[in-house]
Amino acid sequence: MKLLEERIRKDGIVKPGNVLKVDSFLNHQMDIELFSEMGKEFKRLYEGCPINKILTIEASGIGIACIAAQYFHVPVVFAKKTQSINLDGDVYSTKIQSFTHRRIYDVIVSKKFLSPEDHVLIIDDFLANGCALEGLIDIVKSSGATIEGVGIAIEKGFQKGGDLIRGKGIRVESLAIVDGMNAETGEVFFREQ
Ligand code: 5GP
Repeated sequence: MKLLEERIRKDGIVKPGNVLKVDSFLNHQMDIELFSEMGKEFKRLYEGCPINKILTIEASGIGIACIAAQYFHVPVVFAKKTQSINLDGDVYSTKIQSFTHRRIYDVIVSKKFLSPEDHVLIIDDFLANGCALEGLIDIVKSSGATIEGVGIAIEKGFQKGGDLIRGKGIRVESLAIVDGMNAETGEVFFREQ
């Protein structure tokens, strides 16, 4: 998506350690008009799919998922990160290793909000090593719901997540795929899509 690529070029900051900072428009301050265009694009890509629910993970996925949901006319469920050891039987749970925070979270979704009749679109801000997505996929599978696909704002194509998830036969649509970054010059290189 050209609009998102241009914005990343303009306002994204390349940090050492292969981290792309986009906190001025995506995951701290949020540009809602940009999110709106992203939501429309997810809707165009998944036109005709029987999606009745969007699943994301707190915190950065929520804004993108909510704006996209206005085009799909479906509710958003967000997986919660929790420290609680006493998980009761009312939740689906999984463990996710965080790329940015280098720790492992327990992540839960209430059984009330995902069931075998659901057709789910998973949305997140970044796809890097695929840990967050693997966790969300695990949760959807435990619920018996169908995964219609994944919508990602920024995929870091030089990390393993994209291949890992597509290798499971799951459709992944990323609005911008970064194939390389240079922390010295600040350049970001995009894959032609
Ligand atoms: P993964 O689980 O695929 O390794 O990483 C996905 C999660 O890590 C995303 O939800 C995002 O919050 C965070 N993340 C991964 N890479 C980056 C990055 O380069 N920049 C930012 N801002 N977040 C990232």
